[in-house]
Order: sequence, then C-alpha cells, then structure tokens
Amino acid sequence: MDLKAHIRGIPDFPKPGILFYDISTLLRHGPAWNEAVRRMADIVAAKKPDVLAGIESRGFLLAAPIAHALGIGFIMLRKPRKLPGAVLGLSYALEYGEDRIEMQADAVEKGSRVVILDDLLATGGTLGAGINLLQQAGADVVGAVTLIELTFLGGRSRIHAPFESLLSYD
Ligand code: 5GP
Repeated sequence: MDLKAHIRGIPDFPKPGILFYDISTLLRHGPAWNEAVRRMADIVAAKKPDVLAGIESRGFLLAAPIAHALGIGFIMLRKPRKLPGAVLGLSYALEYGEDRIEMQADAVEKGSRVVILDDLLATGGTLGAGINLLQQAGADVVGAVTLIELTFLGGRSRIHAPFESLLSYD
C-alpha cells in the first residue's frame, strides 16, 4: 500500500513558507493506519525494547498501539507541567526560542532498552532532546523511529541513537 498517498502537505502551516505534512488523513483511513502501525511495529520489535517512549502528542499515537502490539509498556515524554510527581526535564533550542520536554523521574529503570517514537523528524531538535533526556534518566536508547523523515533538513545528524523512518521526503 502506498502510505504516502494518505499523507497530505498543507502549505503555510503553522506559519507562511512551511509545508506541513498532515497525518490526520492517514489516521482516518483504517487500512492505511493499520499498515503503518504494523510496519513500524516490525521495525521497533527488531530492536528488542523493554519499553517504548512516545513524544507528545503525535508520538503517543504510535507508541500506544505499538507497545500494545508488542505486549510492553510506554513512557510519555510531555510538554512542561503536564506530568504529576517528580519530573526530569530538558530544554532545547528551536529556530526561534526554546522548548522543553519532561518525563517522570522514576519512569525508566537504569539500563533498560528504550525505543523512542515520534511521527516526524524535521530538524531533529525534538527527538534529539527526547533521547538525551532518556539517557540522562539512565535508559539505553536502542532505537529512534519515526513515521516520516524530512531528509532535506538533515535532522539525522542530531540523533545519537540508531535511527529509522518508515517514509522519507527529500
Ligand atoms: P523537529 O524538532 O525535528 O524540528 O520537529 C519535529 C517535531 O515537530 C515532531 O514532534 C513533529 O510532531 C512536529 N512537526 C514538525 N513539522 C511537522 C510536519 O510537517 N508534520 C507533522 N505531522 N509534524 C511536524
């Protein structure tokens, strides 16, 4: 199945000059979404993770069904002030300004094998920060997997873990 046929590019979102790859149309199509999740689950399973980590919010859409399919758990990496209890956080630079992600301080056991998931790799800032945060928490990040990679932005250079994407645009 041609999964790219179910992903649309929306010009000038969220700001002028940006072409946004919208996965809502893939989510809405049962057979295409099923195949996308199954194919990503195969990539993830090969890395033999103990647990998955998903980045808010579209990373959750992948981490939850893949963790379920593999019979393992998943950790939420969230925007600031969303998680209760003690958290670990990491701030990272955006093109303009900065952003921050957090996880619960007791979420990973030291040395556990973690695969981190998100929908899309652009500059690599978000996924790179997620990997660094997991590593600071003591995880062994054995893989980083996205549905889409925008290869022309070179984000892979910021990903210090074995990286794979299901689809790429150049
Ligand atoms: P990066 O940090 O790699 O520059 O941006 C990736 C993050 O921004 C991901 O969490 C992703 O959800 C979001 N993102 C950036 N551009 C797009 C896009 O074109 N489509 C989608 N679906 N997400 C995007």
